[in-house]
Amino acid sequence: GIAISDLNKAFGDTHVLKDISLEIAPGERVVVIGPSGTGKSTLLRSLNFLDRPDSGTIRVGDLSVDAAKASRGDILALRRRTSFVFQNYALFANKTARENITQALITVQGKSTADANARADAILRETGLADKANSYPAALSGGQQQRVGIGRAMALDADLMLFDEPTSALDPEWVGEVLDLMRRVAEKRQTMLIVTHEMQFAREIADRIIFMDGGHIVEQGPPSQLLEAPQDPRTKAFLRRVV
Ligand code: ATP
Ligand code: MG
Repeated sequence: GIAISDLNKAFGDTHVLKDISLEIAPGERVVVIGPSGTGKSTLLRSLNFLDRPDSGTIRVGDLSVDAAKASRGDILALRRRTSFVFQNYALFANKTARENITQALITVQGKSTADANARADAILRETGLADKANSYPAALSGGQQQRVGIGRAMALDADLMLFDEPTSALDPEWVGEVLDLMRRVAEKRQTMLIVTHEMQFAREIADRIIFMDGGHIVEQGPPSQLLEAPQDPRTKAFLRRVV
């Protein structure tokens, strides 16, 4: 499983993550909600050092990394065990769908080109994109681009998949296909940490929902409890606004 202890992150004078501690069981699907600017993206980005946390420890399986003294090797090891799906897809514009998926397999995992291509083709079939293998991102719809983004993350076979608002940049017509793909990932008992504003999806997919505010975890619980019977006034106020 995953264990995050006392994670702190500041940008200059702005203390964004304040002693965040969180455990995630293998196969658990955890959704994070909360107001804008509250540190949700920073939490996800800190977990694989897209933002470098200032202090705290991150344990993924048997790998434990002390943020304050993480070496380059620690960070690479952590990135092999976590994968990230970005709001804006973050695909390489000059690479095809297949190449977008094989890139990390070759550079991060050290797979041969032949092995990486075979893995990418299996993923492209699984994501319904087999006929788009040689297409560049500009020739794909937003939904297809994000499915490539999710496929790229799936291909890494990570212990933890991180999703930061994966549907919020999409035109409404493409949201459904991306959520469907995420449901399929969830059905495989992939451990997932998801920031989303899609509350119906969260209710359906999450084992646990975490409400964050002001750099703290304010409240957490199963969807039925957190959404139907929130305890903290901040959670209640937030849910009144979004549901
Ligand atoms: P949203 O719902 O709008 O995506 P969020 O909860 O994801 O918000 P973060 O993006 O984590 O919030 O930002 C938390 C705080 O950290 C904000 O005050 C933001 O301005 C600040 N912040 C985030 N990234 C940086 C950065 N690279 N440099 C400086 N400040 C940053
Ligand atoms: Mg964010």
